[in-house]
Amino acid sequence: MNISRAAVLGAGKSGISAARALKKMGTTVFISDSRPASEIAPQSLRVIRRFSHELGQHSEKILAQDLIVVSPGIHLDLPILKKARKKNIEILGEIELGWQLGGFKNVLAVTGTNGKTTTVSLLGHMCKKAGLKTLVAGNIGSPLCDYIGQADRFERTVLEISSYQLESSVAFRPDVACVLNLTADHLERHHTLRGYSLAKQRIFMNQTTLDYAVLNLDDAWCKKMSTGNANRIFFSTNKSLKAGVFYDRKFKKIRFSVDGKKGVLPLPAHLPGLHNIENACAAAAMALASKVPPAAIAKSLLTFKGVEHRIETVLTLRGVGFINDSKATNVDSTAKALQALHQPLWLILGGQDKGSPYAPLKPLIKKKVKGILMIGEAAKIIEKGLGKAAPMFHCGTLDRAVSEAFKRAESGDAILLSPACASFDQFKNFEDRGNRFKAFVRRLKS
Ligand code: ADP
Repeated sequence: MNISRAAVLGAGKSGISAARALKKMGTTVFISDSRPASEIAPQSLRVIRRFSHELGQHSEKILAQDLIVVSPGIHLDLPILKKARKKNIEILGEIELGWQLGGFKNVLAVTGTNGKTTTVSLLGHMCKKAGLKTLVAGNIGSPLCDYIGQADRFERTVLEISSYQLESSVAFRPDVACVLNLTADHLERHHTLRGYSLAKQRIFMNQTTLDYAVLNLDDAWCKKMSTGNANRIFFSTNKSLKAGVFYDRKFKKIRFSVDGKKGVLPLPAHLPGLHNIENACAAAAMALASKVPPAAIAKSLLTFKGVEHRIETVLTLRGVGFINDSKATNVDSTAKALQALHQPLWLILGGQDKGSPYAPLKPLIKKKVKGILMIGEAAKIIEKGLGKAAPMFHCGTLDRAVSEAFKRAESGDAILLSPACASFDQFKNFEDRGNRFKAFVRRLKS
């Protein structure tokens, strides 16, 4: 690829990574971000200022370039991009740029509405356990463009890909690709579930008969996705499959038949819930397609400790467990945590409301929750939505919620932070919320 001038739209993590990679190749880079300087973190501003740039707008200067790299947050319907298309200026996403410039081999790519980070981390663990030099990148860790020029260091590259990145992909062709599931999310961008499904399906569009498409047979949208020439491998937690990977409920094992090889794998030892068995089946199917030996896959399922902030066991104090599920930023995720856990629970709920109803949690709360500790802005809305499903305590802040719950909990109970809300009213992000929870819990111990 020989580009003399390129514009990068959006100066987030992946935009900056793309800009740096292009500059290294000798391309003159122009960064354009619609946010004014006052909304950009000082450390990002320092980097942006090393390039020719504009802030607070996307001006016609963008049209003077040979290539436009769009960040995942940029809407492809933007008027300036429509004009660029008319002028035949090439438009690529950061993953696509990394793919075209990087020459990465043995690429395993995961997309889906939920479970991407968990599946990618587990899959990375499987490859590493098999002794393969493995890069885990994309939406997780560092952007792919950070590794351009280093492809020879890696025997497997495992990527977490969002539907936004797929919208702007062109030649991206993973050796093994997976769509985990598809539920209503991001519809502000894709408008309909069908549109969202078509964006996800693009992960398969350049695959050939040498490649593998891994799909969730239990998901109505995944089941009917078009996978072109790729070899399809289905996984299921509901049905026994002659070919593919499935959860054998009777024997509590994962069974596989992939590429003529059959065998049995253990369930993930440290990941609770059926949703995580689904993630484990997907990761195992991908690893098998990429010739990772079953023994290494089995070992990984037994040793993988899970990902921080997702039903993460913090510690047990006087018989009371503390569980950090700060990543549960919506009602559906909290429902998944309640389904996955079996001890009596004290549930910390609240934060910034996202507008979806809390009532679907009622039956699970009635069954499993001894009390709800409420924090943040959404407290009143949640109280209204849940009625008298369980005793409720208004705590305001997370530290008060932790100490109130601990005062009431008995040995054998667990205190679960799974807030069903965004964190931005009181925290920087869900990671900050989870870290503060863990810090408060550890303070109780001392
Ligand atoms: P993502 O990277 O797609 O956001 P994560 O692995 O970070 O996914 O999981 C986020 C949340 O999504 C988890 O806390 C859990 O509630 C839910 N989740 C995880 N895996 C699945 C799955 N296979 N199906 C449905 N929900 C899931």
